[in-house]
Amino acid sequence: MKKNLTCVACPLGCSITVELDDQGQILSVTGNTCKRGDAYARTEMTNPTRSLTSTVKVEGGRHPVVPVKSAAPVPKSMLFDCMKEINKVVVKAPVHIGDTIIENILGTGVAIVATNDC
Ligand code: SF4
Repeated sequence: MKKNLTCVACPLGCSITVELDDQGQILSVTGNTCKRGDAYARTEMTNPTRSLTSTVKVEGGRHPVVPVKSAAPVPKSMLFDCMKEINKVVVKAPVHIGDTIIENILGTGVAIVATNDC
C-alpha cells in the first residue's frame, strides 16, 4: 500500500510517498528532498505530532490574551483536548516571553509557554 503526504517540515512542501507492507511497516520513503522529510514521513505514519499555537486569557494586562505555543510537538490525536485545556487557563499579568503557562499538558510531557510579553 502507498500513502501520499505533503511534507510540512519546511515551506517547500515536497510530495512524499510512503510504501507500507500488509502489517503497516514502512518499506520505503520517496519524494523527500532531505532527511527531515524522511523523518517527518516516518513520524506521520507511526505517531503523528503537531506543534500547537493558541492564546491564553490574561487578567490585569494591557491585552486580554497572550500568545502561547507548545514547547515541542504534541500527539496529533490530542490537539483538540490540549486546546480545550488551554482555553480553561487564565493567568495574571505580568506574563513574560518564555514563561511556562502549563507545565505538562495532559501528561504529554510538553510545556505550553508564552511567546510574548503581556
Ligand atoms: S522533504 Fe525537506 S525540503 Fe522537502 S518539504 Fe520536507 S523538509 Fe522541506
